[in-house]
Amino acid sequence: MYRDEEKFKEIAKERIEILFELVRRCSDEELARNYVKLAKRISEFCNVRLKDKKALFCKKCFTFFNSKNSKVRLNPKKKRVEILCLNCGYKRFYGYVKEVKLKRKNKNNC
Ligand SMILES: [Zn+2]
Repeated sequence: MYRDEEKFKEIAKERIEILFELVRRCSDEELARNYVKLAKRISEFCNVRLKDKKALFCKKCFTFFNSKNSKVRLNPKKKRVEILCLNCGYKRFYGYVKEVKLKRKNKNNC
């Protein structure tokens, strides 16, 4: 049973990779949004983490960020990355120090 679950997750991961590849090549924003939504749904349904991909799109409206629809700023004082979605105005931050630490932790666990 356990093996099946692992396989299931592998497939889910692969699908998510494919979806994000499609999103990257997609010039239609609306279509790209649908791909992102789908990828997120797969990740939730299959319990697969999106990890660093989370920073690639807007959590609120699912817009895949590019130079036109987002503003990315590094805030060295607070050691965080600030991303502003120009589509819905949602602002998100994530600390890059924390991110690095988490990655290290995950590696150790493996
Ligand atoms: Zn947004």
